[in-house]
Amino acid sequence: MSATEKPKLAMYWASSCGGCEISVLGIGENILAVDEIFDLAFFPCIADFKVADVKGYPDGYIDLCLFNGAIRNSENEEMAHLLRRKSKVLVAFGSCAYEGCIPALSNLTSKQATLNTVFLDSPSLANPNGILPQPHFRVPEGELEIPVFYHTVKSLDQVVDVDYTIPGCPPEPHQIWAVLQVVVAALTQGAALPPKGSIVGAGDVAVCEECPLEKSEKTIARFYRPYEIKPQPGMCLLEQGLVCMGPATRNGCGALCPQVGMGCRGCYGPLPGVEDQGARMLAAIASVLDVNGSPGVDEHALDRRVQEAVDTIADPAGTFYRFSMAHSLLGRVRSDALEKQIEPVKAQHNGSKNGHQSASHRSRAKEAVA
Ligand code: SF4
Ligand code: SF4
Ligand code: SF4
Repeated sequence: MSATEKPKLAMYWASSCGGCEISVLGIGENILAVDEIFDLAFFPCIADFKVADVKGYPDGYIDLCLFNGAIRNSENEEMAHLLRRKSKVLVAFGSCAYEGCIPALSNLTSKQATLNTVFLDSPSLANPNGILPQPHFRVPEGELEIPVFYHTVKSLDQVVDVDYTIPGCPPEPHQIWAVLQVVVAALTQGAALPPKGSIVGAGDVAVCEECPLEKSEKTIARFYRPYEIKPQPGMCLLEQGLVCMGPATRNGCGALCPQVGMGCRGCYGPLPGVEDQGARMLAAIASVLDVNGSPGVDEHALDRRVQEAVDTIADPAGTFYRFSMAHSLLGRVRSDALEKQIEPVKAQHNGSKNGHQSASHRSRAKEAVA
């Protein structure tokens, strides 16, 4: 790069909601400094670049690529490989790229069940012939091609080499700006970058450590959903029976959610050195359960009380792995048995010709997915 040339910046969305792009705009007037420092090389959300433009760049042409979104289909994966090749520094930006986030909740079910829900079972659909998306489809004008929908959602680092990760859903703007300043100092003044593989724009302790709510080592006998109780102000939410992922989540956001009475959802990902955020949270939950384990207490009665308390947690898998499913030790649930149940139903549907058969398919597909 010559002295007069600006570093090149790219930001891409794979399987994402667009919130990560908005969070970059959240850096406020500093966006003007970004514009001054960088030339945009690719940023589909705000500028009309084409993939062909990126393909035409020499390898390593892009100095910094912020890649958000999970890898849900073949296009996401192809773009991940392309942007890896064209970028000097590739950052997994936000929870979807880091650990799968909301898209990876579909790893709790199967590709077929997801397609059924979206294209066959939705009550607002009119799809009497049960047409499902086809990656290749011939029309008089030629062959149409759409991306292949994957069975398993992956994080960015599960398909390409990633240099850094910025966690959060989305990352907090003050953290984004801090990271951009570090990168700019490295690109323009030769300052050192953090070690490859670092999680940047976040802290190294639990959200609880920066949460101002008071903890009192209170135990609880059941959990509540947020609408079921009005939490006592100033007191730890978990100790009041509201699931809060603070003990199992990396800090850096400023404990935003607990401060407004909403338990931390876990979007900054697991603590340093912890492989499975959900498992860590289960350990934290166990520590606040009011199960009197003193000598003489019947073990079965104890088991029952634990089970009763845990049964009050709505959607445990979705709660504890809301952001981290793809990156967790689970990765996905086994779906072979589920697929076997669904396949005959799908075959029957493909043979159906009218709305009546379609309705019967829908009810059977629901049974299979349940
Ligand atoms: S990390 Fe959150 S804000 Fe960013 S794309 Fe994913 S769902 Fe959206
Ligand atoms: S569990 Fe939640 S509410 Fe309690 S201290 Fe930790 S972050 Fe705050
Ligand atoms: S409190 Fe938890 S869910 Fe809320 S922004 Fe922070 S890390 Fe994310």
